[in-house]
Amino acid sequence: MNIALVAHDKKKDEMMQLVIAYEAVFEKHTLFGTGTTGKRIMEETNLQVFRFMSGPLGGDQQIGAKIAENEMDLVIFLRDPLTAQPHEQDVMALMRLCDVHRIPLVTNLGGAEIVVKALQLNLMEWRKKK
Ligand code: PGA
Repeated sequence: MNIALVAHDKKKDEMMQLVIAYEAVFEKHTLFGTGTTGKRIMEETNLQVFRFMSGPLGGDQQIGAKIAENEMDLVIFLRDPLTAQPHEQDVMALMRLCDVHRIPLVTNLGGAEIVVKALQLNLMEWRKKK
């Protein structure tokens, strides 16, 4: 499955906890990420991440384009709801496209753990391309 991993700055440590704890699950999938999130994941794990631009510079929109083209199966976007983001509109657009195309989206660590456990148990096979 193609999985997008994005974390706002104050949520990057939580993203690292997630990918380190479930590295064995993530390594079975194709990972995509915004610039800085992807860089940190590659620096701190053995995972390979295809990196788009940094979120504020268009990375969220690049992931949105993949969603629109049915090339993303899951989005884990650890959002910081307590800090104003210069690219809030882009974040909203990405989430809207997930809803338009019914792409599973989680925006916090609690939801992320659920979907990663689902991945671990092969419960998301229905997303596989026909
Ligand atoms: P970043 O982007 O991974 O480049 O920090 C994330 C975001 O803020 O959307």
